[in-house]
Amino acid sequence: MDIFIEPIGRLINEFSKLPGVGKKTAQRYAYRIINMSDSDARAFSDAILNVKRKVKYCKVCGNFTENDVCEICRVRDSGTICVVKEPKDVAAIEKLHEFKGVYHVLHGVIDPMEGVGPNDIRIRELLARIQEGNVKEVIIATNPDVSGDATAMYIARLVNPLGVKVTRLAHGIPVGSEIEFTDDVTLSRAFAERNAI
Ligand code: ZN
Repeated sequence: MDIFIEPIGRLINEFSKLPGVGKKTAQRYAYRIINMSDSDARAFSDAILNVKRKVKYCKVCGNFTENDVCEICRVRDSGTICVVKEPKDVAAIEKLHEFKGVYHVLHGVIDPMEGVGPNDIRIRELLARIQEGNVKEVIIATNPDVSGDATAMYIARLVNPLGVKVTRLAHGIPVGSEIEFTDDVTLSRAFAERNAI
């Protein structure tokens, strides 16, 4: 016999699908929902459906947007493109309020061990943007780990011959750590002191 009656067990099961949420935490979340007012519970479930309905990827940069082209792509300087692995990296850099250019979200990094090759991430789209002209610098802000470095080198090899400067954001960010979890001061300095590759 299950410890939980079916509806509760089902909710616990759904919460356990979230990253970092184990059985115990999932159980605590489920109990909290049971004690919510009907309207709070509805607002919660509506927010989940709403995000699925409204959030899509920007046609240009691949970041999250409600429109076809995101706000950043529409208003900012497209002469500098900062290349990141995931949308959450855009959020980490935007938090600094220093970068004035646009982004390119790869949605992954080259990782042969995981079977991810250059064609599996948005490198082709990046090259297309650069070939449209106007781009002066490509700043690669993938994480400073093996696959992040391999991806940076791969992109540099393709972009350098196009006469566009390629720089790498690595200075000061501990090897193996993630952009997302780097403190603002370190990340800000890594931006200012980026090196050509
Ligand atoms: Zn965009």
